[in-house]
Amino acid sequence: MLTSKEIRQAFIEYFEAAGHTHVASGSLVPHNDPTLLFTNAGMNQFKEVFLGVDQRPYSRAVTSQKCVRAGGKHNDLETVGKTARHHTFFEMLGNFSFGDYFKKDAINFAWTFLTEQLGLNPDDLWITIYKDDDEAYDLWHERTGFGPEKILRLGEKDNFWQMGDVGPCGPCSEIHYDRGSEHACDHEDGCALGVCDCDRWLEIWNLVFMQFNRHEDGTLEPLPKPSVDTGMGLERIASVLQGVPSNWDTDLFKPLLEYVESLTGKSYDTGKAGFPFRVIADHGRCATFLIGDGVLPSNEGRGYVLRRIIRRAVRLGKTLGLNEPFLYKMTAEVGKLMGEAYPSIVDQAAFIEETIKSEEERFMKTLTEGMDRVSDTIASLKADGKTVIDGQTAFTFYDTYGFPIDLTKDVAEENGLTVDADGFEAAMAEQRRKSKAAHQTVDAWDLAKTVRDAFPNLPKTAFTGYGHLEDTGVIM
Ligand code: ATP
Ligand code: MG
Ligand code: MG
Ligand code: MG
Repeated sequence: MLTSKEIRQAFIEYFEAAGHTHVASGSLVPHNDPTLLFTNAGMNQFKEVFLGVDQRPYSRAVTSQKCVRAGGKHNDLETVGKTARHHTFFEMLGNFSFGDYFKKDAINFAWTFLTEQLGLNPDDLWITIYKDDDEAYDLWHERTGFGPEKILRLGEKDNFWQMGDVGPCGPCSEIHYDRGSEHACDHEDGCALGVCDCDRWLEIWNLVFMQFNRHEDGTLEPLPKPSVDTGMGLERIASVLQGVPSNWDTDLFKPLLEYVESLTGKSYDTGKAGFPFRVIADHGRCATFLIGDGVLPSNEGRGYVLRRIIRRAVRLGKTLGLNEPFLYKMTAEVGKLMGEAYPSIVDQAAFIEETIKSEEERFMKTLTEGMDRVSDTIASLKADGKTVIDGQTAFTFYDTYGFPIDLTKDVAEENGLTVDADGFEAAMAEQRRKSKAAHQTVDAWDLAKTVRDAFPNLPKTAFTGYGHLEDTGVIM
């Protein structure tokens, strides 16, 4: 059985042997790209190479890229723990061609790697292509011998890949693994690839044929040279090769779940009851990597996504009886599993732990009281036969107890209720507007003038900047 470390290594070596340069993972904080919250795919660090504005000394590359899909265009935060295959943080294995090879070689490399190097049985594999990509159909047919029953044509949503609202994009072709009919779901139209979204059909590898740059107005401009970008989730291919039914059962997650068991004294359940365990393992890993790449908890942007991730895990920890900071302890466990591939999470472990711990302490101060309030609210809504927590109430939980909206949604869902997210946003916008207005009405110069007018006998002072005024405690 291959370990995840061996799979990562095999992938890199296979593509190196085929002339690809091994490039290190980029940071989770995209370099110089305000259109992107976090690095969400292997191609991000090569965006400008695809666009033709940056040149590299190589035309083929292979990477194992750290990715986070929480917030932003690709957002899996609320899926984590519910499916067998989604994480907030994961590793994407990828091979890239910058105007070098195109569809034919990309298909050949992927198929050869999976079936010959890794030994997967072609019977278990299925292909999807973009609906009118006849060229991809012919190439797949030639290479695999599959007909239209195993090479499915899907639409934009599944088989046209784009990194964000703007940037490089193109039709794609994906390889899926059938876990077997015993994993079939009871979808009304039958359990089939492209019909349902269940865990029987595991998307393992996406081959993107990079052909366009999407502009803000939606138009597609052809790229200078057609290129290839591929991405395969390490955790997913590990689950296939390790013969386990989900990513959570692989060597990348099992030890983390066992660690949560040791913290709580409770045993992990692979079904619904194991949800908090999975989220804690996932979020502990994600927080470790985000802080390792310089993100700190805050009230906006990237820092707020990190804060939401930590708080969500802390709330779920409480449901397992963890009332003292615990999430920070995951950092050492993640380091044991992944420190060799990513030494910086070990080198910075003390700082990462301290950062997570202080965020936990901060949230724990209001969590218990907040949960009491939420429980009361839910009880009274239910008593009135209502099913929605209104936006203003959700905003109060946020404002008073530091409950991010997704945390309130989690609790609501556990109780069969929903949250008015639009109402929450409206209440939030209103608060921002008010606080902005309040700040704008008091201008420091006006204030100083008012003070002078009120006390005409004060000695004359020179204005030395707001810092000085603040020091005196004059301002607000
Ligand atoms: P899915 O349909 O399962 O959500 P996707 O189509 O959104 O996956 P892509 O954008 O095509 O995923 O990313 C390329 C590959 O990265 C996927 O084929 C999968 O192996 C992996 N991957 C994507 N999202 C995740 C995730 N949240 N956690 C783990 N692996 C992921
Ligand atoms: Mg997805
Ligand atoms: Mg998909
Ligand atoms: Mg995909």
